[in-house]
Amino acid sequence: MENLLEVKNLRTVFHTYAGTVFALNGVSFSLKKGEALAIVGESGSGKSVTMLSVMKLLSENGQVSEGNILFNNQEIRNLSTGEMQKIRGNEIGMVFQDPMTSLNPVLTVGSQLIEVIMNHNRISKGEALGKAVEMLKLVGIPSPEKRIKQYPFEFSGGMRQRVMIATALCCEPKLLIADEPTTALDVTIQAQILELMKKLKERTGMSIILITHDLGLVTDICDKIVVMYGGTVVEQGTVEEIFHNPVHPYTLGLLQCIPRLNMGKERLKPIEGHPPDLIHPPPGCPFAERCPKAMKICEIQKPYYKDINQDHSAACWLLYEFCEEGLT
Ligand code: SF4
Repeated sequence: MENLLEVKNLRTVFHTYAGTVFALNGVSFSLKKGEALAIVGESGSGKSVTMLSVMKLLSENGQVSEGNILFNNQEIRNLSTGEMQKIRGNEIGMVFQDPMTSLNPVLTVGSQLIEVIMNHNRISKGEALGKAVEMLKLVGIPSPEKRIKQYPFEFSGGMRQRVMIATALCCEPKLLIADEPTTALDVTIQAQILELMKKLKERTGMSIILITHDLGLVTDICDKIVVMYGGTVVEQGTVEEIFHNPVHPYTLGLLQCIPRLNMGKERLKPIEGHPPDLIHPPPGCPFAERCPKAMKICEIQKPYYKDINQDHSAACWLLYEFCEEGLT
C-alpha cells in the first residue's frame, strides 16, 4: 500500500527566554493509506509537537529546523500558508482534547458546521445544512435535525467530541489527526468515541493518527504504534509487535502502567523520575536517567536504530552486542 504521510528525520526547536528547546530530535515514521497509527508517550515526549509540525501549526517561536514531511508525496515544508490551509481543511482533519475550547460557545452547532462545509465546498446554505445534519447522524448524534439548532453547552462532553469529529470529517479528509481526543471523557464515553473512529475509518477508508499518553487505548483501533520519549522515537512497530515483543525499556515501562484484569493484588508500576530537560538534552540515550538497564555507553552516546524485523525497530544499546572492535 502507498504511503500517505512520511516524516523523515524531523527536527523542531522552540526559541524561549530560557534557551532553545530541542523538542524533536530526528523523528521518522510513515503511515499508509487507510492505516491507523498511534503516537504514544508521556507529556513532553514530542508527540503533539510532531503533529503540530506536520500541520504547520507551531507557535511563532517554533520552527522545523530539519527533515522532510511528505503528504501524498508532496513536501509540506515548502508550502505557503494559503496552500497549507487548503490541505488542513480538505485533506487533513484534526480533533483536539477539549472540544469546548474548539467550539464557539455563542454559535449553534449547526452554524459552525455549515460555516466549515461552505468554506470548503461550493454549495448553497440549504445544501450545507443537509450535509451538516448528515454528518451529525454519521457520528451517532440522535435527533440531528433538532440538535443542530442547539449551542455547545447543551451537549455532553462525549456528544461535543462527536460534533468535533463531525466537523473534522465534513470535508472527507484523507487523514484524521486526533490529539488525546478522549482524555477529558469518562471511560465508557472514551470507548464509544474510539469505536466511532474505528467505524468511520472502515467506512471511509481514511487514515488516522491517534496521539495519546495511554498505550491501553490503542489496541482496538490502531495498526501501528510509534513510542516517543524525549523528542525521539524510541520504538515503533505493529500493535502485535509492541504488545507481544516489546524491546525498549521505556515501552516495557509503559506496558507495566496498563491495568490488567488478572492483576490480583499486583500494583501498577509507574516509571520513576522525570523526562529530560530538552534545553540541555543529554548527550546519550534520552531515557538513560530513568532506565533500570542503563549502561555506561547509554550516558555518552545515542543508541542507533535497529530493525528487529520488518515490522519493528527500536533505538536501544541493549539490542547490540559489544565486541573489541566496537558494536555488532
Ligand atoms: Fe536504557 Fe541504555 Fe537502552 Fe537507553 S540505550 S533504553 S539507557 S539500555
